[in-house]
Amino acid sequence: MLFTQTLIPTLREVPADALIVSHRLMFRSGMLRKLANGLFTYLPLGLRSFRKVEAIVREEMDAIGALEIKPPVVVPGELWKESGRWETMGEAMLRARNRLGGDFVVSPTAEEAVTSLVRDTLASYRQLPLTVYQINTKYRDEIRPRYGVMRGREFTMKDAYSYHAGAKSLDATYEAMGAAYRRIFTRCGLSVIPVRADSGAMGGSDSEEFMVESAIGDNTLILCRECGYAANVEKAACREEAAVQGADTPALESIHTPSVKTIEQLCAFLNTGADHFIKTLIYRARNVALDLSTAPGTQALSPRQSPGDAQAVYPEAFFAVAIRGDLEVNEVKLAAVLKASEVALAADADVERLTAAPVGFAGPVGLRGLPLVADLTVMAIPEGITGALAADTHYQHVVYGRDFIPWLTADLRTVVSGDRCGVCGGALYEKKGNELGHIFKLGYKYTRSMGVSYLDENGAAQTPIMGSYGIGIDRTLASIIEEHHDEAGIIWPMAVAPYQVIIIPISYSGPAKAVADTLAADLEGKGIEVLLDDRNERPGVKFKDADLLGIPYRVVVGEKNLERDMPSVEVKRRDEKEARLVAVSQAEADLLGRVYGELSASA
Ligand code: ATP
Ligand code: MG
Repeated sequence: MLFTQTLIPTLREVPADALIVSHRLMFRSGMLRKLANGLFTYLPLGLRSFRKVEAIVREEMDAIGALEIKPPVVVPGELWKESGRWETMGEAMLRARNRLGGDFVVSPTAEEAVTSLVRDTLASYRQLPLTVYQINTKYRDEIRPRYGVMRGREFTMKDAYSYHAGAKSLDATYEAMGAAYRRIFTRCGLSVIPVRADSGAMGGSDSEEFMVESAIGDNTLILCRECGYAANVEKAACREEAAVQGADTPALESIHTPSVKTIEQLCAFLNTGADHFIKTLIYRARNVALDLSTAPGTQALSPRQSPGDAQAVYPEAFFAVAIRGDLEVNEVKLAAVLKASEVALAADADVERLTAAPVGFAGPVGLRGLPLVADLTVMAIPEGITGALAADTHYQHVVYGRDFIPWLTADLRTVVSGDRCGVCGGALYEKKGNELGHIFKLGYKYTRSMGVSYLDENGAAQTPIMGSYGIGIDRTLASIIEEHHDEAGIIWPMAVAPYQVIIIPISYSGPAKAVADTLAADLEGKGIEVLLDDRNERPGVKFKDADLLGIPYRVVVGEKNLERDMPSVEVKRRDEKEARLVAVSQAEADLLGRVYGELSASA
């Protein structure tokens, strides 16, 4: 391909909103242009690498027997109403109405669309397990699209969905997907860290995310130095201390604490550490799929029972959440425990109404107006201090079991660096990461709510169990650049390079032109992807652009080297400093050997 015959608008200057390397380099190398906030156009160069990432993903999906399909991107809202996510997806989902007044959704993900297909095609257990996938457009109305295609509004996802006659079969596909993901990222030249993840309101059990380390990562990873434990902080657990018996705890006593409201003020006032406090926060939860019939203060709430849902859902409920004073509540864990689509701290007015006390004096002792959910650490405090549900008053010598009994206890703490590993006791530490892929065991959430069934060996109707598996293609591509670049530009791994060889004639005329044209044609004839820089630019400009574009092999054809006894060209790998002189007669064989060698090493 001749440089002048394609569209590679390289830039010297950096767009002001490009805060990270991949964003800057994708713009500067002419891979990408912005159409609007979160919306991008891939230009020919960018699209070539994009297609290579897609092809690797496709090969690995095909290799584990997943079947490619192409559902529409615009999907009837009815399907989302069936699954219940029309209400729970919130603002990220772009909705539209057609001329007949029908509701539609621009797919942010496709559990509904694919489950609808399976509902129509699945009849017998003989068709299971079934795994289908697409590599297709998604739209999420992200509040803050940023970092270029890392977090866009429109992006491309490989999303796969699997259906099974039982949990064992789901386990096998989940394992195979995990292995395929590892191969995909390795082939793309990426070092990923697979971590345990929260399966969220999706309602599943196991879940794993594939992270790349990144200073701008949205995720915090909790890692163990000793045993290799790795989890998203949303899910990470750590070693817990044993619950106390409280036999030696002095009797509960109330203390006057005038105008002391925060834990810091209380620590100063009582001259003690925050770990002696039982912090109690009031949370509002939405769409709670728990049985609250035994919970205090919830009698007036009426749950919504949708057909197919195993559990009625409370559109809104409040909870008191108690945790040791030096720790933070992990809201993702809390939402998972409450089976809620969303949790947030309650407004002051709600806190005062529900605790019958001013804000800052909530506590577990004598709490009646709402269910108490306690973190496990609360049970290990031998003599706690906590709000007494009255102005300017706290209790001391508070102990779990004697002075209060939670409605529910669970692990709710946010694990931090220095906490002890729950598996081996080693020291945990943190890293920032970006999520490239995610695999989930979904359970029956969609197949039940959408009424999917098949006939088993005995002719009885059964509901299949389901998994879902996503990879962001754009984010993967950008992450490759994050991991493979230097000051001058991109350094593409061979497997995803837009071209494999760039040929730069110092001047595109005379013998240099003839040699460059012949070498390009010969290499292309052997299946090598070649970009020939035929521009009428100074050599310095062409070299700078070649470094920016990051094509693995650069061949410079100059008159001087052609006039040697053995006419030669200069060959340099993008990540090497020095070029090698290669005889013109050897150049084709040399490059073929190297390019195909690297390709087969990463296949
Ligand atoms: P995030 O937490 O980053 O918003 P997510 O957990 O919502 O992502 P999933 O629903 O698990 O994402 O989607 C699967 C994959 O799709 C992600 O691992 C990521 O690679 C990609 N992805 C999700 N949102 C975006 C986006 N806004 N832009 C680009 N890629 C995205
Ligand atoms: Mg995810």
